[in-house]
Parts: sequence; structure tokens; C-alpha cells
Amino acid sequence: MKFGGTSVGDVAAFERVIHVVCTQIDVRPVVVVSAMTKVTDALLEAFATARAGDAAAGFDSLERHFARHVEVRRTLLGDAPNAFDRELEYAREELKDLLTRVQRRSLPLPMLKDAIVSYGEQLSSRLLAEVLKTRDVNARQVDSRRMIVTDDEFGAATPVVDETNELVKVEIEPMLASGEVPVMGGFIAANRAGETTTLGRGGGDYSAAIVAAALNARELQIWTDVTGVMTCDPRICSDARTIPVLSYEEAAELAYFGAKVLHPKTIKPAVDTNIPVRVCNTFEPDATGTMVIAESGETPTKIKSIAHKKNITVLRITSARMLGAYGFMSALFQIFERFRTAIDVISTSEVSVALTLDNTAELDKIITELKRLGDVDVESGYAVICVVGEGLRASKGLAASIFAAIEDVNVALISHGASSVNLTFVIKEEYVADVIRKLHEEFFEPRPSRQLISNY
Ligand code: ADP
Ligand code: ASP
Ligand code: MG
Repeated sequence: MKFGGTSVGDVAAFERVIHVVCTQIDVRPVVVVSAMTKVTDALLEAFATARAGDAAAGFDSLERHFARHVEVRRTLLGDAPNAFDRELEYAREELKDLLTRVQRRSLPLPMLKDAIVSYGEQLSSRLLAEVLKTRDVNARQVDSRRMIVTDDEFGAATPVVDETNELVKVEIEPMLASGEVPVMGGFIAANRAGETTTLGRGGGDYSAAIVAAALNARELQIWTDVTGVMTCDPRICSDARTIPVLSYEEAAELAYFGAKVLHPKTIKPAVDTNIPVRVCNTFEPDATGTMVIAESGETPTKIKSIAHKKNITVLRITSARMLGAYGFMSALFQIFERFRTAIDVISTSEVSVALTLDNTAELDKIITELKRLGDVDVESGYAVICVVGEGLRASKGLAASIFAAIEDVNVALISHGASSVNLTFVIKEEYVADVIRKLHEEFFEPRPSRQLISNY
């Protein structure tokens, strides 16, 4: 059971988590928890302040977040001394020291950044374990950094699967066998040298999936602040509805193209071990939410959800020299591989390629290299819209109705046919909300005319 940041945001949220865990004690849960909401952002800001030369101000800015932990501790653990007090004191000392090191650049910054940001999950997991103990749950915090082994890519580390599986089993299985409820921080891990790493923003879902796969869990539950995966981002369209069942493939596409409710890497460990993933709401614990399983079946309109991702850069590369020659694509992809940059959407003709990136950290170097191949045009401020549903590729007339619904918007790039479950296109960022609302209205909201026809 993975609880996200909003599920542990304050005293009331902790109470909701306790309720959910207590109602499922019989199924022997493992609890994975994120930092209290806003804490990861605050730690990253403190890091940035220290890097800019003011470690003391960075540390002071964390004070109100320490106070939020203390508030939960006081309300739910009472006045008696508690192990969490020592944990918080230690975290404060360590954070002060780490921020000073950032200011002095006494260790590599990416390493310090992960060490700092990990305190969100270190504290929340300890606090939740202590709180559960007072409710007669035999809970114990376990340090994820002893189990999840990653490479050295600080900030976006990749787990070493076999070693991690082994360590998770060795640590967690005896606890479950003796009736304990392990409580671990999501998102945080360690490399082989024991240095703290993190799995990327929103990576708590991924941690939970790794643990579920290692233990061959019966189900992976992602508890968040909305009831499951919805027909689109509920912040954009208030008519968004919960999707009862999604296939792994559909969920993976949605997650990759911006449905923040699941981290993009969550699905892979579940697919590998065929574990069902359920996305549920701590605010509505009795609702079934969304079930993600191997096959979901087609819906009448074929479309199950619309995801979007902003802040996208479009690159167009044209090389007349390559007309009739082979090797152009290969040369192009090698450049992206060299700079470890993933391409999201791609569309090609014989001598030109249009593609999108959301990671532009190495963009300048990539452009310099691409210019050896041909003319390069770069434009930022785009968004990817991804329409997802089983049977979408094989369905007649669907592309026509999607684009007819948004006929007044210029589409910069279209990708369709590579996967059987998605149709992806790129538009200017400012049209995102409008396009999603129009598509949602077209495919998910009953209209009087449709009603009439079906009644007739
Ligand atoms: P947590 O802290 O629990 O990990 P996140 O903020 O990472 O939660 O993810 C949940 C949020 O994802 C929701 O509040 C919602 O605004 C957003 N979201 C975006 N697209 C979707 C979608 N298709 N279905 C549900 N939620 C979505
Ligand atoms: N706390 C981390 C973040 O905010 C990881 C997570 O919430 O999943 O990105
Ligand atoms: Mg999340």
C-alpha cells in the first residue's frame, strides 16, 4: 500500500491512512509512504538557497515543515517521549550540516541534493510507523536505502533489480511472517557505495511497485487524493470520471504522457510479475477506484482517457543530403543516446524528422551535433496530448472525430499506429485546457443528440 504526499499532509490525513491500514491488516500489508505534502519541494528549495550561498536561510525555510511533523506527532502520539523526537532532532542536525556542505561545495552537489531531499521520506515513514504503533498495529519503519539498490544516477536512479529483489525479500518476508507491518519511505534508495539516491519526482509509486514485485504481492495499491485514474486530469475538467479498469499498456501510456497519478515506471514491475495495481482515494476509502490489469477490453467509444504533458520542445531536422541514402535515423538516434535524452514523440518523412523532448538539459549540445546532419529548427512551449484506449488503432473514423472536435487548433505533430492503444499529437501549450475540455465533452459527456438517437 503506497500513500502519496497528500495522504500524509496533516493530522486528519494521517488518521485516514491509519483507517485504511487497519482495515486491511489481515492481508499483511507493506506500507510505502511519501514525504508529507510540500516537503520534497521545500527541501529542494532549501538546497537551491544553500547553493546560491545562504545555507542558514535554506535551513530556516524548513522550520515550518518541521513544525508540521511536530504537530502530527503531538496530536497523535501524546506528550510521552517518543522515538520520533530523536529522529527529528537527528534530521535537523544532518540537514544543517548537508546544507552547509552545499554552500561550501564540499561534496558533489547531485549527491548532496539526494541526501537532503531524502529526509522527507525518512521523517514521514518514521512518523507513520510510530503513529500506527499507538493504534495497536505492529508497525516498524525499515530504511528503504538498505533494500533498494540503484546505479549512481543521483536524482533519477535506476534500481538494480536482482539485488534489490533479494534484499527486499530478506528484510521484509521475516517481518511479514512474524505479523509485523513494515513501513518504508518511497522514492529513496542507495547506490552500491551506500550513498543515498532518489528515483525521480513522484518516484514513491515506483518504489512501491518494486517492493510489490519482489514480494510477489497479491495487489499493489496506490492511495492518493483522487478516486483512481480518471478520464482526464480532474484539475482541467471537473467532469472527469474514474475509469474502472485499465490495461497495463493503457496505464503505462497515460502515466508516461503526463497522468501524474501514476509514476511512469510503476507499471513495469507490475507487468513483469502480473500483479494487479489498484489506484484508490484516501478521502473515499470505500470506492473501488481503478484496477490496472493485463487486459481491460474496449469501451464503446474506444477512448478511456486523455493525458497531457506540458513544457515540451519540438525539434525538426531536415537533411536533403540524406535523400535516398540510409543511416540517417541511426545517426540521429545515436546523438540522443550519447546525451542520454529520451525522445517522446516522433514523426518522419524520408529526409526530415520532427520529434519532441521534455528533458532539455543537454539541448545545446544535441543541437550542435544535429546540425552536422542537416538544418535544425527548435521551438519550445508545446504540449503533448495522448488519447488512450484499447482498440483505438483498429477503429474506423476515430482519428477523424478526434481532430474534427478540435478543428480550430493547429496540430504540430501526430503519432499514431506505433502502439495499438494511443493516438498522440502535439499542440501549442496555451491550447491544452481548451483541447482537453473539447475532447472530453466529445467522448465522455452525454449529449442530448446522442441520447435521442440511442433512445430512438
Ligand atoms: P500523490 O501525492 O498521491 O502521489 P500525485 O499528486 O502525484 O499524488 O498524483 C495525483 C494527482 O494526479 C491528482 O490530484 C490529479 O490532479 C493528477 N492527475 C493528472 N491526471 C490524472 C488522471 N488522468 N487521473 C487522476 N489524476 C490525475
Ligand atoms: N516525495 C517525492 C516527490 O514529491 C516522491 C513522491 O511523492 O512520490 O516527488
Ligand atoms: Mg505521485
